[in-house]
Amino acid sequence: MMKDLVSPQNFNVMVSKLSDVLVRALDAPLGYAINWGRIWSLWPVHLETACCSVEFGASSSPRYDVERFGIIEAFGSLRQCDLIVVQGTVTRKMAPRLRMVYDQMAEPKYVIAMGACAITGGLFFDSYNVLPGIDSVVPVDVYVPGCPPRPETLIQGCMLLQEKIKRSKIK
Ligand code: SF4
Repeated sequence: MMKDLVSPQNFNVMVSKLSDVLVRALDAPLGYAINWGRIWSLWPVHLETACCSVEFGASSSPRYDVERFGIIEAFGSLRQCDLIVVQGTVTRKMAPRLRMVYDQMAEPKYVIAMGACAITGGLFFDSYNVLPGIDSVVPVDVYVPGCPPRPETLIQGCMLLQEKIKRSKIK
């Protein structure tokens, strides 16, 4: 009788049920912990495309001190970065490079489009050589409007991204 209960087929079923129960029990707390780590250690790529980059640089200054919001200053290798802030104008010539940078970043990765130029082409929207928005090249998570947006606006955009990460499901 006992032998039938612990047959290989029953044992496999029991193990798969147990793993289902464990995954369900741990999914929420583990997901929360992993997202918590991602939120408070956003690591941006240093990719300057136009004048918005001055505001991006200013947001790392002691006056704004973005590190207190869990956004690490832009430095190091692309392979450590999980956030790209596209700072202004992107020309058609530069678009493949932007995609190349994005492809080299670590997963999961996030994109902020900073400034009117990155969002719609801005002042140059009808120019033959400027992209009318970077969302045709990389998937954008948060749009930060302005020409240029002030560091406070960029920081608010980063906080919106953190909210989005907090609600995301772990894959
Ligand atoms: S949005 Fe304005 S400040 Fe930013 S890159 Fe375009 S023109 Fe320059």
